[in-house]
Amino acid sequence: MKVGYPSMGSYTRLLSELSPHLGWELITPKITPQRTIELSGHYLNEMMCYPAKFTLGSFIECCKQGADHLLMFDSCGKCRLTTYWILQQRALNKLGFNATVHPIRLGLHTPGDIQAIDPSIPSWKAWHVFISFLRKALSLDTELYYDIPKETTLVRIGLVGEIFSVLEEQVNRNLIQKVEKMGALVHNSLPLSYFIFKGLYNRGWMKRRGMDRQTWLFAREQAHKYFPKEIGGHGNESIIHTIYYALNGFDGVIHVLPFGCMPESTIAPILDDISQDYNIPVMRLIFDVHTAEGGLDTRLEAFVDIMKRRKDGRKNKIKVSDGV
Ligand code: SF4
Repeated sequence: MKVGYPSMGSYTRLLSELSPHLGWELITPKITPQRTIELSGHYLNEMMCYPAKFTLGSFIECCKQGADHLLMFDSCGKCRLTTYWILQQRALNKLGFNATVHPIRLGLHTPGDIQAIDPSIPSWKAWHVFISFLRKALSLDTELYYDIPKETTLVRIGLVGEIFSVLEEQVNRNLIQKVEKMGALVHNSLPLSYFIFKGLYNRGWMKRRGMDRQTWLFAREQAHKYFPKEIGGHGNESIIHTIYYALNGFDGVIHVLPFGCMPESTIAPILDDISQDYNIPVMRLIFDVHTAEGGLDTRLEAFVDIMKRRKDGRKNKIKVSDGV
């Protein structure tokens, strides 16, 4: 079986490493060309959220490389992600490709979903593949995201928003690397392992590296006062983590959302209020097919620069009041 799947930043290689266990030839496009993503937008609808267009673009590239089966993340959440595979299947058929799009739910359903695609895979093997993937995701997160010290002269910025745009560098135009090069430390509130083990982390059954649970619990309580409802996607997490970063003395927050994102655009005014109430700057970045990298760089430089000045200003104030 030639099986394609969409890229997802640094995590893309995790699936390809599972290829020998599954006995599938796994195909992933390394870079999805801009013109293919634009074509996807045309077949889905301009108003559809950017990750839907981007992942369809990945599939088109996989089909060109001969994929006859495609894996699309599904989830138990409430958002449009659960319907991508249906729309993408229709678009691929219209484009003349024969491949079948299979929804894969992340969690206890994953092994069953793998077997539904390929019944020749025994249950134990499907579980083995799934557990190896979880282990690899956890250790990759340890590699990718370092702990940020509380006391540092460098500016500390928290990253919140829609998970695919936060994790896929082709979508966010290498946002984390750009900000780090500008001399700031970045804490990502949504590594893939948080998405996978959210239930366990939130119940305190697993410890989140580099996160203070008591502050996080307090932030969750406060977040509920601002928005007392589940919104789907990671909208609630964006609220919780923005408060968490403010309580934890971070210098600023970057809110990342793709064009057309329902949960993140819904909670955007809440983050603006939190920014005022907690006196923490929040910059919103909306990504879509036509995001211009030059404009993005300028905004990031200005934001990091303001954070640096605020931090220096605060330090000087403390020195004056100490009589130094
Ligand atoms: S969270 Fe946003 S980007 Fe993701 S499916 Fe929902 S609307 Fe689309």
